[in-house]
Amino acid sequence: MSNISQNLKKIHHDITAACQKVHRNPADIKLVAVTKQQPLIKIEEAMRYGVTDFGENYVQEAVPKIQYLTQHSVNWHFIGQIQANKTRIIAENFNWVHTITSPKIAQRLAMHRPDHLSPLNTCLAINIDHEATKSGIGPNEIIPLAEIILSYPRLKLRGLFIIPKPQKTFTQQRRAFAQIQELRHQVQHVLNIHLDTLSMGMSSDFVAAITEGTTMIRLGTAIFGART
Ligand SMILES: *Cc1c(COP(=O)(O)O)cnc(C)c1O
Repeated sequence: MSNISQNLKKIHHDITAACQKVHRNPADIKLVAVTKQQPLIKIEEAMRYGVTDFGENYVQEAVPKIQYLTQHSVNWHFIGQIQANKTRIIAENFNWVHTITSPKIAQRLAMHRPDHLSPLNTCLAINIDHEATKSGIGPNEIIPLAEIILSYPRLKLRGLFIIPKPQKTFTQQRRAFAQIQELRHQVQHVLNIHLDTLSMGMSSDFVAAITEGTTMIRLGTAIFGART
């Protein structure tokens, strides 16, 4: 058995165990395999083992992969920082964009989303720890940016995305995820909408994210091993 298949088995086992503890349904958690710096052969292998969703951070790296694998019906998620001059190629190639942080980027993605494709699924990237090295909006910016996205028919607002600061303990890991869950409830209440997605949890903290209600975990290392 290959490493990827063994790793996926362990991950599904861990997801199920984490869900049981908090009475959640494992089917409510979507696994996004993060394939940055991974070659096509590994992506194809993950597909054979049932992975249907893939995440990429860099447009130049992602687009040749997406175009090569175009005959496979999988979902591509853009999870990197978005440069304004890349919005067309992102809107043309991806099913999801997790990392919207400004009205300008939202406007450009909406403008460039091709008519023959369904509306682009989007999340707002939240920077809750005020880390200068990470892009993302503060809690007070969520409602205004959500309203802008809701005004574009070519964008579909699905939820919130976060990469929290690395934490040592499970309890510490849970805190930022719980804050995002709380922010989601606030946005739903204020705007009278339903957000069905929390994009949170990576290889080192996905169990804590499941405990706090994540619906989408983005795993790279846990599936493919260390990046080279
Ligand atoms: C690289 C990356 C991941 C995956 O990280 P791992 O620790 O390898 O699981 C998830 N989300 C984003 C935004 C990333 O850049």
